[in-house]
Amino acid sequence: MMNATALVLGTDQRKKLQLVQLLTTTQLFDRVKPLQTPTALFQHLKNGPADIVCWALDNEENKAGWVGKLSGYEQWHDLPVIAFADNQESLLNGFTLGASDSLKLSTDLNELSARLQGHLRRWQRLLDLRQSKEQLQKMALTDPLTELGNRTTFDMSIKQAAARTQRSGSPYSLLMIDLDHFKGFNDCYGHQAGDKVLKHVAEAIRNSAREADICCRYGGEEFVVILPDTDAKSAEVLANRIHKQVALVSRRLHLKQQPLTVSIGVSCADQKGSTHPTHLVEEADRALYQAKENGRNRTETWRPPSYPTSIDYGYMPTRELAFGT
Ligand code: GH3
Ligand code: MG
Ligand code: MG
Repeated sequence: MMNATALVLGTDQRKKLQLVQLLTTTQLFDRVKPLQTPTALFQHLKNGPADIVCWALDNEENKAGWVGKLSGYEQWHDLPVIAFADNQESLLNGFTLGASDSLKLSTDLNELSARLQGHLRRWQRLLDLRQSKEQLQKMALTDPLTELGNRTTFDMSIKQAAARTQRSGSPYSLLMIDLDHFKGFNDCYGHQAGDKVLKHVAEAIRNSAREADICCRYGGEEFVVILPDTDAKSAEVLANRIHKQVALVSRRLHLKQQPLTVSIGVSCADQKGSTHPTHLVEEADRALYQAKENGRNRTETWRPPSYPTSIDYGYMPTRELAFGT
């Protein structure tokens, strides 16, 4: 294993030093670092690397809470902890105290190297598996084209936001964003250009949103933003920012003849009404439909049927595109 780091613990300074020398002699490690106390070990693990902990066991040692504490951390649960003892009794005690393996300080150097290499190989394999698991998890939750959250992320996140509203009572909102006349855009410029536009719009949405907002691709040319702890007014502010950012994208891509615009539907739930995600999606969908009906390039907010409101964004002409429906 390249760049391996061994951390060395032990209350008996002489034994600890002996162990440091032994580990150095194996030439398996780039770094053999003696640590004064278990506290120093945890301090080191906050940022520093570790591939194995070697522990010079004291003959009278009968508790080692740090071993259990170490395995309590998800990240360090399987880090090899090797107890080194100089008699049979302590050797067995090493296992009792929770070490992954127990070796005599007098072990033949070749055997010692072979055993340590086995532990290092298993640790490395675990790190590799962990990395691929994280990559797979990320892939399972991310839309590959836009790198926003995908539909699964949306479904999970909106449930969490709803539960939060039920607990705290503070409202949460939803934006449903649909590109205007995008079929015409594809027909005119081709699907690859369409994909590029989708990426730009996704970036515009992400840049407009706050850290806590969850931006996802709902499907096709539709995006959603979940806004935890946000009322309808603040959600409309975000919608406004998105219209402006999309207008900038349109200018940057020189789409002057057929400007790129989006329509947005906003819905908001608090404890007074239903906080159920299905209802919020339905209402944002209806508001979006209204925005399309009312001329596109605008935001509509869902209200109970008797209170319709609309916001018209005047900075970009709202008109049917030449290559529209
Ligand atoms: P409207 O303003 O009413 O929303 O019109 P529209 O043309 O955008 O709506 P419609 O639902 O008729 O068409 C959506 C189009 O979005 C169909 C398809 O060509 C395009 N589209 C969906 N997903 C993708 C994608 O992943 N890449 C590209 N390039 N185009 C996509
Ligand atoms: Mg659509
Ligand atoms: Mg559309």
